[in-house]
Amino acid sequence: RGGGGGFDHLFKILLVGDSGVGKSSILMRFTTEDCFEDMSPTIGVDFKLKMLDLDGKRLKLTIWDTAGQERFRTLTSSYYRGAQGIIFAYDVCRKETFRSLQELWMNEVDMYSTIPDAIKMVVGNKVDLQDRQVTKEEGKNFARQHGCLFIETSAKENIKIAQCFEELVRKMLETP
Ligand code: GDP
Repeated sequence: RGGGGGFDHLFKILLVGDSGVGKSSILMRFTTEDCFEDMSPTIGVDFKLKMLDLDGKRLKLTIWDTAGQERFRTLTSSYYRGAQGIIFAYDVCRKETFRSLQELWMNEVDMYSTIPDAIKMVVGNKVDLQDRQVTKEEGKNFARQHGCLFIETSAKENIKIAQCFEELVRKMLETP
């Protein structure tokens, strides 16, 4: 510990959810403070590194983004392997992306996840928009039913993005 690249824990976190819900934007918002509009599209499954100081601990996070591969249903087991934290993202203005969590993404994670007690978090993104199709209550209930944490965010307006990762990681730290 101390200087250099030291850290207390190394965590792998995944972002899953339908195309367009804002996964890349959430990741960009959390890992850089770069201009939102300048976000260049990423190609291929990729991950970003983030050092996070939380509750006196220095954490190294590798956060994996599908980078569009979800459209082709080509996410492989290596994407899921070893993930201790999983973010299920949907767009609060597109109900079908919320239904996909139940109909697709929960099953995918159950099938491929290699860590049985991975911490899961349901994230309703784009709360800055007006034409909402999924209420906060619906999101919350769904999360509770599936034993997940829950938060609503806006990557665009930078609402609750840091809190999202901090709550997830805090819970991961509590899990032996
Ligand atoms: P991904 O396919 O899940 O990675 O989604 P992207 O991050 O590429 O975002 C899809 C589109 O939604 C882009 O045009 C983003 O600018 C936009 N977007 C992402 N997050 C938000 C948000 O919180 N609010 C609004 N209004 N737009 C967002």
